[in-house]
Amino acid sequence: MAYDVVIVGGGPAGLNAALYLGRGRKAVLLCDAGTPRNAAATHMHGFGSRDGIPPPEFRRISREQLQHYPNVEVRDTRVGSVEPHDGGFRVALGDGTTVDARRILLALGMVDVLPDIPGYRELWGTTVFQCPYCHGWEVQDQPFGVLATDPMFLDFASVVQGWSRDVTVFTHGTFPVPPEQRERLHHLGIGLEERKIRALHGKDGHLEAVELEDGTRVPRRVLFSAPPQRQPELVTKLGVALDEQGFVKVNPLGETSVPGISAAGDLTTRLQGAVMAASAGAVAGAMLNHGLLMEDADRRYTAATGKTPPARLKPH
Ligand SMILES: Cc1cc2nc3c(=O)[nH]c(=O)nc-3n(C[C@H](O)[C@H](O)[C@H](O)COP(=O)(O)OP(=O)(O)OC[C@H]3O[C@@H](n4cnc5c(N)ncnc54)[C@H](O)[C@@H]3O)c2cc1C
Repeated sequence: MAYDVVIVGGGPAGLNAALYLGRGRKAVLLCDAGTPRNAAATHMHGFGSRDGIPPPEFRRISREQLQHYPNVEVRDTRVGSVEPHDGGFRVALGDGTTVDARRILLALGMVDVLPDIPGYRELWGTTVFQCPYCHGWEVQDQPFGVLATDPMFLDFASVVQGWSRDVTVFTHGTFPVPPEQRERLHHLGIGLEERKIRALHGKDGHLEAVELEDGTRVPRRVLFSAPPQRQPELVTKLGVALDEQGFVKVNPLGETSVPGISAAGDLTTRLQGAVMAASAGAVAGAMLNHGLLMEDADRRYTAATGKTPPARLKPH
């Protein structure tokens, strides 16, 4: 059977797209590999009506609500490839089978490339955080660190001061701090450490100190750090156009540069959050449904009249 849409990825973006497409009566297959970006986080904040929910519980409720729509199927499987096929796409699944689809929605999220600092991975998501809106409230007024591996994160240090005035920036020896930036940090009361970090020390998932290359330990309870990200391999293989920061380029309808392939969520933007991803998924789902309905209407018109459908109407 050919699905109308195969959604690759069952995070907030994919789940909300499935909901819209399901309500649009489309035949949908949502495939999820079970590796969400926020896997290390115990709670998810900032999602209206769901503030503080454990991420697995969010996905469980979303999936439960999708069961109301028998035209939506959810499978726990990794999509291995997506190839053009017969005017649509052939999708290879983790169990060795293939399915066909008229459209594809990429909602795979991004891959965080965690730095190779001992202790970092163990504390990621519990006291090493990427976003103050997600986790800042719970740790407000504690001693913060900011790992700045790029000069743009020097500004980020003054942003996180909105949650605690006690902030130290760690450049980890990655770039020379310009004198005017050094002076700015000084006047804002932001500490600056330019030595390399040897390790993060913590207990039971709680950061206690940042150890520098010479053995100095700087007591910190929280480290904000936005590690570099990369696209999942499936996305790079598809050849969809990326912007200069490496995110999938989409138009306001969620369409990528490859006809028939849409994208939504983290993989399209640096503005990453669950509610933003869910919203983008809803838009992409609705627009996919719209496009499929128009395509079907054109086909029915041509079958009935033998004529080419008139050009689409545009607003005045
Ligand atoms: C540690 C941490 C904590 C966070 N905390 C918060 C928070 O409190 N509040 C908030 O709003 N945001 C938070 N975020 C950000 C939030 O998790 C993301 O913005 C959001 O999950 C993005 O949704 P998404 O659907 O685009 O991608 P994801 O949630 O990453 O979902 C993508 C899905 O695609 C699947 N997938 C990947 N490859 C394949 C494949 N080949 N085949 C099939 N499936 C595949 C994965 O299994 C995954 O489930 C946090 C992020 C991190 C890293």
